[in-house]
Amino acid sequence: MSGTVKGWCPGALRPMASGDGLVVRIRPHGGRLTVAQVQAIADLAEVHGNGLIDLGSRAHLQLRGVRADTLSALQGALAGLGLLDPDPAAEARRNILTTPVWTGGETPALVAELEAALAAAPVLPAKFGFAVDTGAQAVLGDASADIRIERAVGGGLILRADGMAIGEPVTPQAAPGRAVELARWFAACRGSATRMARLVAEGTRPPLVATTPPGQGRAVKPGPTPFGACCAVPFGQMRAGVLRHLSVAPLRLTPWRSVVLEGLSDLPAHPGLIADPDDPRLRVAACTGAPGCTSAEVETRGLAARLAPLVPPGGVLHVSGCAKGCAHPGPATATLTGRDGRFDLILNGPAGGNPVARGLTETDIPDRLRGHLAP
Ligand code: SF4
Repeated sequence: MSGTVKGWCPGALRPMASGDGLVVRIRPHGGRLTVAQVQAIADLAEVHGNGLIDLGSRAHLQLRGVRADTLSALQGALAGLGLLDPDPAAEARRNILTTPVWTGGETPALVAELEAALAAAPVLPAKFGFAVDTGAQAVLGDASADIRIERAVGGGLILRADGMAIGEPVTPQAAPGRAVELARWFAACRGSATRMARLVAEGTRPPLVATTPPGQGRAVKPGPTPFGACCAVPFGQMRAGVLRHLSVAPLRLTPWRSVVLEGLSDLPAHPGLIADPDDPRLRVAACTGAPGCTSAEVETRGLAARLAPLVPPGGVLHVSGCAKGCAHPGPATATLTGRDGRFDLILNGPAGGNPVARGLTETDIPDRLRGHLAP
């Protein structure tokens, strides 16, 4: 088994060292876990880690607090569950976000074919990824991906480069191969760009016969859905016991820090889960913060939970442990960025934006936020 690396994009074969131990990322095939996998991961999180599990924006899970001396045993267990790639390069390439709103066999087959086709893909930048967004409508447009196989408006599929409004009509048979061709083109033409949207914004046009926009649908929210009951995890982190509580149906992971319990009409209620689509915690993004992240200058999630009731519908509050802004890379209505144990306040900007107030304490914050949280 391979060792560890320090970086921002951990895998199961290349864990990241963090403030609370190693972070081991699991990328379920097709964004789906069986009941047996869910139960086993909950157990592994407690046996090999500190029992905390992150649900990330690329529909992945991360086990936190894993000890170096037990990493190899954890990797062996993940291999037994069919959740370990053959080598770190294959793991890095298999960066595929799958729509959670699929029906029938087309989407799982496309993901499997794309996984196989990626064996011939070039080395790509670490965050570069693919989306298979082929439910009745495309719902992943706001989620991070560079090459998208999507449901077209009016039906059929398109291949779209992120940053372009329209894509090239493709058949399901041709889509995975064309996606890899587009990745090869990107690798050859990217210069210093690490993301497709930036290359497109710079005026480089991908080699697609693009004619058709995606048929855009909406993100799933907590509550009943046609695909199963959806519930969110507050600020994207749960304890292993919460995951174990969810082991009553196969799970589809979403990029919105929620899961869909496949085929289930009723949510298994739990205080560690959000079942109400109007829960104000859904309007707050908060990263790991201190002490889990070594870059953090403040604790984040406790403050986020206390401030959530102040955030009205339509507003977005971001509490970030440092200026990197991992939990919400874009602008938020208000962002609190940790600096030297206190907070800077940024309005309508990202975590690294220009503050309108600096050095706030937790006591100062509610008054300073008032009037600034409405969209
Ligand atoms: S934003 Fe900073 S503190 Fe938060 S997880 Fe990222 S690096 Fe760590």
